[in-house]
Order: sequence, then structure tokens, then C-alpha cells
Amino acid sequence: MTAPAPHHCCYIGLGSNLETPVKQVQQALNELAQLPHSQLVNASSLYRSRAVGPGEQPDYINAVAQLTTQLKPLALLDALQAIEQAHQRQRLVRWGPRTLDLDLLLYDDLSIDNERLTVPHPYLTVRDFVLRPLLEIAPKLHLADGTSIASWTQRCDDTGLIKLPVQR
Ligand code: ATP
Ligand code: CA
Ligand code: CA
Repeated sequence: MTAPAPHHCCYIGLGSNLETPVKQVQQALNELAQLPHSQLVNASSLYRSRAVGPGEQPDYINAVAQLTTQLKPLALLDALQAIEQAHQRQRLVRWGPRTLDLDLLLYDDLSIDNERLTVPHPYLTVRDFVLRPLLEIAPKLHLADGTSIASWTQRCDDTGLIKLPVQR
């Protein structure tokens, strides 16, 4: 008999600034909850942030979700990109506006660096729109190097982040 695949703890960053972003993010959270071999454990509030990409762009809606999954990192990335595609994500310019962006922020304590995937996400520790929602759902979280998410949150860039009231 083969042993069942282990359950891994992951954090996913969600962002949208096109086509009713609040709905895009809410729907994406529902889709994350339906991923095979995975459970949505927690989701942050929604936040609004100023876009940091090129040119004038609408504000972003952001959130962070915690998943447990038996998917391996690249299989999880495939699943996240399939959800982005289902939201008609188009890649026209780097950091351009998008209907949905799903970034794999953390996968257990793993450090991954290959052509398709870098984990922890390279900008995790500098983006308030990732750190603050992450801190909301995982206030005691530490990175593999021992630094705390709370300490990074105190020194990250400020994008005028606002936590939105609960959506109904
Ligand atoms: P940023 O990485 O600065 O947040 P972005 O989210 O706009 O930028 P995308 O165009 O969504 O970048 O993704 C470009 C590529 O990044 C993807 O095709 C994917 O293979 C790769 N990638 C590397 N590491 C990750 C990760 N941790 N999560 C998601 N995609 C990643
Ligand atoms: Ca991103
Ligand atoms: Ca991305």
C-alpha cells in the first residue's frame, strides 16, 4: 500500500484591478475552496491598494488565503494559473492591470527556485498589500529564516492600503 500524499500548508496572494475586482477576488476564493486535494483553511478580509505597476492603473483589491493541499508546488501553480485563465487574465505588459493574479507566497517552509516558480514569493517581504492580509490570518507566522511576518509588515512599502468592511 502506498502512503497518502502529505498535506502542505500554503498561502496564496490574490489581486485584481479590472472588471469588478471585488467580485473577481470573492469568486477566486470560492474557486480556491474547490481545488482538488485541497482545503481552504482561512481567507483574509479584502483590502484596497494603489497600483504599483506602470502608468495609471485602477486601484487593486487584494486578499490572502491559506490552503492545505496535497498538490505538489508545480501542480498547485498549474491550478492557480488555470483559475487566472478562467478569469480571462491577459498578460499584455509586465505588472499591467489584470482581472486576477494568484501568487503562491509560501509552501510549507520550502525554498523553490526554478524557471516557473520562486517560493517564497520574491516580493513577499516588501509589499504591504500581501503582508497585512497575511498577518491578519497568520499573526504568528515566521519565515524559514526565523524572521516574523509581523516584523516585515512594520518596514514594508506603503501603498495606502485600506481594509474594506465585510462584503455581503
Ligand atoms: P510579481 O511576481 O511581481 O507579483 P506578476 O504577479 O504580475 O508579478 P505574473 O505575470 O503573474 O507576474 O507571473 C509571471 C510568472 O511568474 C508566471 O508565469 C509564473 O511562472 C512565475 N512565478 C514565479 N514564482 C511564482 C510564484 N511564487 N507564484 C506565482 N507565479 C510565479
Ligand atoms: Ca503578483
Ligand atoms: Ca502572478
